[in-house]
Amino acid sequence: MRISDLVRPNIAKLLPYSTARDEYKGELGVFLDANENPFPNGFNRYPDPRQLALKAKISQLKGISVNRIFVGNGSDEAIDLCFRIFCEPGKDNAIAICPSYGMYRVSADINDVEMREVQLNDDFSLPLERLLQVADERSKLMFICSPNNPTGNCFCREDIMKIVSEFCGMVVVDEAYIDFADSASLLALDEEMPENLIVLQTMSKAYGMAGLRMGLAFGSEEVMGLFANVKYPYNINSAGMNEAFKLLERDVKKEIDIIKSERGRVAEELAKRENVLRVYPSDANFLLVKVDDADATYQRLIEKKVIVRNRTKVKGCEGCLRITIGTPEENDILLDTI
Ligand code: PMP
Repeated sequence: MRISDLVRPNIAKLLPYSTARDEYKGELGVFLDANENPFPNGFNRYPDPRQLALKAKISQLKGISVNRIFVGNGSDEAIDLCFRIFCEPGKDNAIAICPSYGMYRVSADINDVEMREVQLNDDFSLPLERLLQVADERSKLMFICSPNNPTGNCFCREDIMKIVSEFCGMVVVDEAYIDFADSASLLALDEEMPENLIVLQTMSKAYGMAGLRMGLAFGSEEVMGLFANVKYPYNINSAGMNEAFKLLERDVKKEIDIIKSERGRVAEELAKRENVLRVYPSDANFLLVKVDDADATYQRLIEKKVIVRNRTKVKGCEGCLRITIGTPEENDILLDTI
């Protein structure tokens, strides 16, 4: 399987937009090339469309070379780009596990791509055989979220790699919550990363930048080159880029450690409650909790201004609430209220 055979023909032959900043890359000069307002106010110039300074920092942090990194307006942009690059609307299809992150399906629907959802096994493990069985010659994408939202568990690396080697399309492994897990990211594969693997991460969770909208994708140079060609030229703005650059200097390990230890404490405390039927193990910064009456518990919490996510209508999560781990004080309020 060659990547070029998976790419939509219109994208394969796309002549991407070349920005003024793509054509001249020097830093100093009299810039009369981009029809900007010349009077400085901090934002009068267009941002670097290739985000090189930010990517250099991410490269250091993740140990992946700059040309194998994409930065998007949240990982939702990267998810959408996967469809726009690989799937012919009305013809191709994508596969995703279920229950999982809702945007895979929404993005498929927006792009008029059939989504084939495969229910996880009862213990939330990967239904390997079924995932491979539903694929046909028009299956271009397979989404695996690990740790999975909303079930909270990581999938075993051997299972994921079996899919990567046997599926004749792109496998997108969404690691939005990987920094809260004990198992390593697939980025550890580095140069060994198969060509048909895209790893998504985000600065919205452990890095504490949900408001800045910084999603990350990692893959081969060829695939990340396609992302660069198809994205909006200036998809990341200067303000966001500068703030993210500064915030990446911060050591988030302490915060992650607190969140992980609170996850253990909250899980233990919840398990003692009479109305709590089950607390699922979690590798993420949330807990999936089965209660005796999800709708009533959700309402009771809302009345006390404690907002969680009611997942009871999601197949496989009947009776469940998804509860994000907050600060120790916030978690105490949750425990007092539930
Ligand atoms: N992937 C998963 C699994 C998520 O749960 C979320 C957000 N809840 C995202 C991606 C999107 O993250 P971002 O803020 O980077 O768009």
